[in-house]
Parts: sequence; C-alpha cells; structure tokens
Amino acid sequence: MNYVASLVKLRCPACRTSNMFAKKPYSFAALSSINKSCPHCKISYQLEPSFFYGSMYVSYALGVAIAVATYVLLFLFGLGQYMLLSIVAIAASIIVLAPYNYQLSKVIWASFFIKYKPKD
Ligand SMILES: [Zn+2]
Repeated sequence: MNYVASLVKLRCPACRTSNMFAKKPYSFAALSSINKSCPHCKISYQLEPSFFYGSMYVSYALGVAIAVATYVLLFLFGLGQYMLLSIVAIAASIIVLAPYNYQLSKVIWASFFIKYKPKD
C-alpha cells in the first residue's frame, strides 16, 4: 500500500497494515479511539507525552484545504458568486468532514515521525 492510500485508510505509519484507530471516524461515541500501539507491528504511537497535540496544525491545514476545495467546486459549478451559499457550503463541508479530519490529521502527524518499515 502506498503512502497516500495508507493515510486515507488511516493505517499505521510503520506497517501500513492495521488501523491506527479502534473505531471508524463516524462512530462518534469513540471518536478518539486511537490505539496505544499497533495491533500488527506493536510500535507505540505515543512517542512522547501529548504527542498528538501537534496534529492540530495538520487538522487546521486540512480544514483550509477542505474550504478551498469546496469553494473551487462551487466556482466550477457557477455558484461561486453567491457569498451566503459559499459560506454555508464551506461550513457544512468542514463540519461533515470533521470526524474524518480529526483522525486523518493524527495519522498524518504520526507519519511525520514514524517511518515506514515494511516486513521482509
Ligand atoms: Zn503497525
């Protein structure tokens, strides 16, 4: 599995085999159900205390990317000149994608520090 596919599927950055989270993003009861370590390769995800605070920066960047992508889509469909529609559509897309953004930002943040180690 390549790097981008492993990110999109929220896989462990080290083995890209098992999921970093115990639950799917839209099972709201356990949104932050990140595993302490990988069930497959046993690597610990907590590299230091409060390690995942840095994923807020990634989450912010993803939020901006979602907003820009939504606006570009509206513009391509000829709806970009309607300010109120644009604001509502951007807010709705950010809110709807927030659970996935939350988990994806943590996977991306971890992938900055945990290198891919394929099994031989
Ligand atoms: Zn793993």
